[in-house]
Amino acid sequence: MLTFEQLLETWDGETAVVHRDPESGAWIFVCLHSTRLGPAGGGTRMKVYDTPAEALQDAMRLSGAMTRKLAVAGLPFGGGKAVIAVAEIPSGEERRALLLRYADLVASLGGSYRTSSDMNTGEADMDVIGERTEFVFGRSVEAGGSGSPAPPTATGVYHGIRASLSHVYGSDDLDGRSVVVQGAGGVGSPLAEQLASAGATVFVADIDPGRAETLAARVGGAAVPADRVLDTACDVFAPCAVGGVLSVATVPRLRCRIVAGSANNQLAEPEAADLLQGRGILYAPDYVINAGGAIAIVGLEQLGWGRSELDTALAQIGDTLRQIYERADAEGISTAAAADALAEQRLKVG
Ligand code: NAD
Repeated sequence: MLTFEQLLETWDGETAVVHRDPESGAWIFVCLHSTRLGPAGGGTRMKVYDTPAEALQDAMRLSGAMTRKLAVAGLPFGGGKAVIAVAEIPSGEERRALLLRYADLVASLGGSYRTSSDMNTGEADMDVIGERTEFVFGRSVEAGGSGSPAPPTATGVYHGIRASLSHVYGSDDLDGRSVVVQGAGGVGSPLAEQLASAGATVFVADIDPGRAETLAARVGGAAVPADRVLDTACDVFAPCAVGGVLSVATVPRLRCRIVAGSANNQLAEPEAADLLQGRGILYAPDYVINAGGAIAIVGLEQLGWGRSELDTALAQIGDTLRQIYERADAEGISTAAAADALAEQRLKVG
């Protein structure tokens, strides 16, 4: 494991704020990877790490991913991320007090970093943070926020799947197409519903088989055992559960033409993107296709959008993917590389 010094020397970001919370013993890292296009935006992750350095590294890596995600989404924001590294996930008064102290730290950054929820933090936590600072997205509707980002994320993935079908088959028609949705959660459920409404045959897998069966029944589809998703023949595999599903071990097993889903960090290793390209499987880069939630909270809470502007912006995820696919074809590179190149380009000219 690298030391703090080594991490800071090798990181390509702008500013890392390091704060030790004496009351709880937590370490808090706020990484502003880039403010080139606007204030650094990105969620707050609360997690138990083996070492503080590991938490700092996570915040650095995740903040870089936010820079690319927000640049490609065309939002006037840079990339940031915060990690609260705790000995164990707190609850009750202890959690509230920690979040208020964290909120004071966010406030002290004067708006150069704006937070939202991430792993182990949610709407209620954003409401607490909102008691101390205005620089927070994703509060509850009651507290002035825009509500859950999962439904707009699903809508963005839906547009992304249509754009991917169009690229592979020459038509974005879902009628007669089959989609395996991995994860019947906040994103997977509304996605399965939209796909089924448009005529697709939907297969659902979840580590909770009851959840998969309930959703499959609701959309007139079928449940698939969680350990069979890779081997199920389909047009589209939509990972909407966990990261790391695409690796040198799993890509050879896929029986689909397209991978397009909401899960973050789908590529377990960069080589998986080249393997997908080699197998002729179209991969919708995760941070492009899953940006709908970020687009919604920024648009509705910060840019003054209404419903129709949001709908237009979510549909644009499909247009952005088309652009990425064309670039990948023209340059003979993977779609993941083409997405990174688009992000670089936007960061240069922005
Ligand atoms: P969720 O927790 O609501 O649902 C995840 C579902 O996946 C659960 O039903 C869970 O039982 C299931 N699951 C977990 N491991 C599984 C496995 N190995 N195989 C099959 N099913 C499994 O989460 P969500 O909000 O729907 O998010 C899904 C994914 O999309 C996550 O990777 C998340 O990071 C990503 N994402 C979500 C949003 C959002 O707005 N919610 C935005 C961008 C990205």
